[in-house]
Amino acid sequence: MSDKKQKIIPDEFIPEVSSKVVTIDNQDFLLQNDAMFTFYQRSAGELSPFFLGIKNDRKILGCKCSKCGLVRVPPMMTHCTDCDFAPTKLVEVGQTGTMLSTPPITYFATSMFADKAPFGRGRVILESADTALSVMLYTTTGILVPGLINKGTKVKVVFRDDRVGQISDIFCVPASELTPRQVEKKGLLQSEINWEASKQPAFPKPTDKDVAEFKKSVKEMQALAAKMSQSKRARRAIEGWKRNIAVKTKAGEFTMYIDNGDFKIEERKLESPDFVMACEDPATLLDGLMYKGSITDSVITKKLWISKNLEFNTIFKLDRLARFLVMEQKEKKAK
Ligand SMILES: [Zn+2]
Repeated sequence: MSDKKQKIIPDEFIPEVSSKVVTIDNQDFLLQNDAMFTFYQRSAGELSPFFLGIKNDRKILGCKCSKCGLVRVPPMMTHCTDCDFAPTKLVEVGQTGTMLSTPPITYFATSMFADKAPFGRGRVILESADTALSVMLYTTTGILVPGLINKGTKVKVVFRDDRVGQISDIFCVPASELTPRQVEKKGLLQSEINWEASKQPAFPKPTDKDVAEFKKSVKEMQALAAKMSQSKRARRAIEGWKRNIAVKTKAGEFTMYIDNGDFKIEERKLESPDFVMACEDPATLLDGLMYKGSITDSVITKKLWISKNLEFNTIFKLDRLARFLVMEQKEKKAK
C-alpha cells in the first residue's frame, strides 16, 4: 500500500500550455488553454474531534445520546433527534467490528483512488457502536478477492502510518489474518502488520506431462517477451517500470524481468523478488501475454495469485504490454 503525497489537483488534470483553432461559420478562432485558480480550506467542523482522534491519538470516536444511549459513529450529532434533541457526548468505541454486509471490491478505481486499489468498501459496526462506519477493506494475503470478507466477518481497524485527518487514514482487515495480540492492540499501525507473509496457494504434485507443458510454455513466453522488447509500441507499456517478479507454477518456477521497456523471462529462481505471482498452470500467463483473455481477470477470478496488493498496477501493465504488441502487429499488417 502506498502513502505517496498527493496534490490537491492531480497532475493529470492540469492542462498543458497549448492552443487550437476552431472554425465557426467559416471563420477561424484561436482557443487557448488558460487557468483560473480557486483554492479553499474546508473545516471538519463538529467532526474535528473524530478526525483529530484518528490522526493524533489513533482513536475512533462516536457520540452517545445522554438519554437513549445510542452510540453513533462517526459522531455526526451533537443532539439526538430520537430523544427530543437531548445532548450527546463523545465516547471512544472499539477498533474491532463486524461487517454489516458483503463489501463490493473496486479493482478499477478513479485516479483519485488509483494508488489505493484494489480495495473493498463496506460498512462495519465497531464494538460498542450502534451505527455502521464506512471503511476501506484490505487483506494481508495479497489481493482482495471475493469471499475473503463477507457479511458478518470480524474485522480490525488499522491506522496508516502517515495520517492527515481523513477517513482514508484507516482501513480494516479480517481479524482472522492477525495475531490475537494485534487484534487486541489499540491503534494498530499498518507498519506493524507483516504484509509480506501472504499465503501462497499450494499446488498438487506435477506429472511428467505438466513439466513438459511448463517447459514449452516458458519457451513460448520467452519468444513473446523478445518480440515485446523489440516492439516500440509494447515497450511504451512498461516505460519507466522496473520489477523482478518470481512466478511459481505447479511444475516449476521462472522469473519475469521488467526494466524500462525491456521484458525478459528466464527459467530460474529469484532470491528476493519485488513480488511473487503464483498460478497452477503457466498457460494462464501465456494466454494473457498472447492477448487471449486478460491477466487482470485471472487475478480477480483467483486463477493467478499475487503477493502484494499494489502490484495490481504491474498486472495492468502486463495486459497493456500484450495489447500493444497485438496492436502494432495489426498495424504492420494493414500497411
Ligand atoms: Zn437518543
